[in-house]
Amino acid sequence: MTAQPNSVEARDISYHMHSYTNARRHEEIGPLVIEKGDGIYVEDASGKRYIEAMAGLWSVAVGFSEQRLVDAATRQMKQLPFYHNFTHKSHAPVIDLAEKLVSIAPVPMSKVFFTNSGSEANDTAMKMIWYRSNALGQPQKKKIISRKRGYHGVTIASASLTGLPNNHISFDLPIANVIHTGTPHHYRDAQPGESEEAFATRLADELEQLILAEGPDTIAAFIGEPVMGAGGVVVPPATYWEKIQAVLAKYDILLVADEVICGFGRTGSMFGCETFGIRPDILVMSKQLSSSYLPISALLINDRVYQPLADESNRIGTFGHGYTAGGHPVPAAVALENLRIIEENDLVGNAKRVGAHMQKRLRELADHELVGEVRGVGLIAGVELVADKATRAPWKNAGALGLLVNGHLQENGVISRNMGDTLGFCPPLIITESQVDDMVAAVKKALDASL
Ligand code: PLP
Repeated sequence: MTAQPNSVEARDISYHMHSYTNARRHEEIGPLVIEKGDGIYVEDASGKRYIEAMAGLWSVAVGFSEQRLVDAATRQMKQLPFYHNFTHKSHAPVIDLAEKLVSIAPVPMSKVFFTNSGSEANDTAMKMIWYRSNALGQPQKKKIISRKRGYHGVTIASASLTGLPNNHISFDLPIANVIHTGTPHHYRDAQPGESEEAFATRLADELEQLILAEGPDTIAAFIGEPVMGAGGVVVPPATYWEKIQAVLAKYDILLVADEVICGFGRTGSMFGCETFGIRPDILVMSKQLSSSYLPISALLINDRVYQPLADESNRIGTFGHGYTAGGHPVPAAVALENLRIIEENDLVGNAKRVGAHMQKRLRELADHELVGEVRGVGLIAGVELVADKATRAPWKNAGALGLLVNGHLQENGVISRNMGDTLGFCPPLIITESQVDDMVAAVKKALDASL
């Protein structure tokens, strides 16, 4: 693209440094400027319409034009545009939302702590875990085990938990006390001929060996996404979580479920924890909590976590953590209305039904010359591209094929996201079967154009 002087694209290049972007390349190609949204579609500045097959950033559950969320925000702005929850203050939207989240939690939970982004929430989880260990008189119990390819955010602590090279290289990360273990990515990481079951057993054994090598009394927690998103939509083998949880229980290690992508219907259940039988001590959520109309995130914590924190705060005099906008009334009101819409329209059921259709239709592409594997559950899927099906080797360098196919897909009116050579599909939960068919037809066309 050559940006016209003073065009919106040229001004973007002049003034705006983008997240997750090669800055020099951006100076050459400029932005795709999106102007408006309508259901599962968005429209760019030239009037071209796209199926937003990533729901923005895995997040817009109810689509891009939900008037009820606009109204909920407006009502709350007029009533009380800001208040906080420091030093015993509160207001109805956070109380109502906290009560609602505890009531729908997949396992018994005790309290909700509000933050503004997934990164902040995971940062907070880490701080709570350390505070708890100190409260319990176990100051040596501070290490947190995360997974390679896991994604937990970009603050100094949450980027350390993240197990992707671009989040560490040149940032001098990860910090101490974070260690990474293996990924349940059967297609890439299983040994030749290894069954999913045997692979899951091996990963659980590797975790146990890591715990023993580090010293079990130094390990405070394990964090994982039920289905890995940004790491390439990695769906674990059926018994993986059961086996991992057995190891954690043996060594008294807390489990943090990062439901920032999976939460609120994505995998066909309200929480990914239900789909995979995960029983977390801390459940982290964001994105679909408010359909990302406004920033909000939250941690559900059980009594095993809450009670020591409460004791320690009493000993010190305060729990010295919290954000100005954590528990902001406007996003909280939007989140509550968003949860009502999800429930009233059975969007979780829709994710299950239409998700099954999407999984079936995308798997029809598995025979394509450029497709190595199609995987997913509910309304989240990954199509992993390879240049050679037999060796599973990438084309030129890793990520080049993903970029190429994704470019064609965008030309064909579908916005996806290539995580290296895996294309992500994570559309709004309101998507219909015929819209899925349109999306899959565009993917097929983009694959053919890339041959
Ligand atoms: N955790 C997971 C599983 C995510 O996918 C993300 C973002 O994509 C985050 C945490 C970080 O959230 P945020 O970008 O809001 O900081």
